[in-house]
Amino acid sequence: MKHIVIIGGGITGLATAYYLQRATRGSLKVTLIESSQRLGGKIATAREGGFIVEGGPDSFLARKTATLDLCRALGLGDQLQPARSGKHSTFVWSGRRLHALPMGVGPMLKSELISWPGKLRMGAEMVIPARRASGDESVGSFMRRRFGNEMLTKLAGPLMGGIYAADPERLSLESTFPFLPAMEKKYGSVLRGWMKQRGRSGKGERSMFMTLRGGLLQLTEALATAIGPEAILRGARVAAVLPYRGRYEVILESGTSIDADDVVFATPAHVTAGLVAYIDAELAERLRAIRYVSTATVSLGFREQDLPRAEGLNGFGFVVPRTENRRINACTWSSTKFEGRAPTGHVLLRVFVGGAGAEAFAERPDEAMVALAREEVDAATGIGAEPVLARVYRWEKGNPQYEVGHRARVAEIESLAAAHRGLYLAGAAFHGAGIPDCIENAQAVVRQLAGKHGMYRQPAAGSAVAAGAH
Ligand SMILES: Cc1cc2nc3c(=O)[nH]c(=O)nc-3n(C[C@H](O)[C@H](O)[C@H](O)COP(=O)(O)OP(=O)(O)OC[C@H]3O[C@@H](n4cnc5c(N)ncnc54)[C@H](O)[C@@H]3O)c2cc1C
Repeated sequence: MKHIVIIGGGITGLATAYYLQRATRGSLKVTLIESSQRLGGKIATAREGGFIVEGGPDSFLARKTATLDLCRALGLGDQLQPARSGKHSTFVWSGRRLHALPMGVGPMLKSELISWPGKLRMGAEMVIPARRASGDESVGSFMRRRFGNEMLTKLAGPLMGGIYAADPERLSLESTFPFLPAMEKKYGSVLRGWMKQRGRSGKGERSMFMTLRGGLLQLTEALATAIGPEAILRGARVAAVLPYRGRYEVILESGTSIDADDVVFATPAHVTAGLVAYIDAELAERLRAIRYVSTATVSLGFREQDLPRAEGLNGFGFVVPRTENRRINACTWSSTKFEGRAPTGHVLLRVFVGGAGAEAFAERPDEAMVALAREEVDAATGIGAEPVLARVYRWEKGNPQYEVGHRARVAEIESLAAAHRGLYLAGAAFHGAGIPDCIENAQAVVRQLAGKHGMYRQPAAGSAVAAGAH
């Protein structure tokens, strides 16, 4: 029986194993190898004293339906939970106060976040000619060119760069927000395009973000159960993968080796680089060139009675422009964003530390990082009380940076990988770092594998990826 080994038990590896088993209906042997005893990778939920703490992702985009479909297929449909909507706002911490994010023309005109010259410059976007040149550019370059520098530093930088823990001046526009250059091209202006599209889609409010009631761990636990313990090797770190007579030998750090016909690398690109170095040194080098930055999250639980009545406390949280020279990037009001995250009479906050240009803050010892987060939260909101819960999660070299030219770099990597029969790359480094992107990437790899082993059947529109997948 052919043997397929998947390295890495994050969402990408788990989804690959799950879809592969369903596509091939037991006709292939599938083994998932994870270095840690814990599955899920960046998805890490802790339940403590009535709090539900997310160390990594806390939600996923509903617009990309892959995660919703997977949750439903795993029987988690009734656990899906939208972010609260309504009057809750996001804030920008600028000039020593929190400004509500201006949503729409009226609020923007009234907002004190952007100066009048800055507002006029933003409005001028409607008449600024579209770029003639094709090819990628940075998010920073695009936003400055279209909307001006103030909009970039105070809004686009912290919001768009923040999602990727990236420097907007290096972040690839075509790999992260491709709809923006597309709108510029189609309508000549992002604002004009946005108004046209808004008119068409109506104003119906639908939550952009979804999660699971018990935390995202529910998804990885359900995947692990569906895959089955016999197909999962935990606490086994892969040290190298060697080509051997048209197959592969997967060498574990323990010294054991496992033979495989196909290997799916669902590890971060810098890890994959080390593992494939004996197969293809150039491929390894290209993978290593995908830069990663370190980040951390600090979750803080407070008693409601200890909170001041400050502006912004009933919002979803705030982002911090780099020009403010603070030590944190953002703070999410987790218990406002999602119901049930804190026990009655308590609130839960999550502070984001590190990322491009600020990695040193994410490398501090736990105690220092909690102190830093508390000081910054106090300065922004006036919450000086002792937290009843403080939990640090570190993501050392955990966030891939989609820098300008990323798409072309990935195409080169994939063409090098394609020269090796049975070698597949997947994960957050390539076609999107969000959970739905990782799941879609897993589905694409399963399509290739099922095709190779003669088990691919054209799926009906909107259905799963390969023959037999639910
Ligand atoms: C702080 C933070 C917040 C985020 N927020 C969101 C969000 O709200 N929404 C969203 O959609 N996305 C979010 N993301 C992004 C998303 O969580 C990740 O991109 C995604 O979970 C990555 O999944 P993966 O399976 O590709 O990689 P990983 O989760 O990194 O999994 C890789 C796995 O490989 C294992 N491994 C490593 N080396 C070896 C080895 N040698 N042998 C065997 N196993 C090995 C690791 O232990 C790990 O389990 C966030 C990321 C971070 C860091």
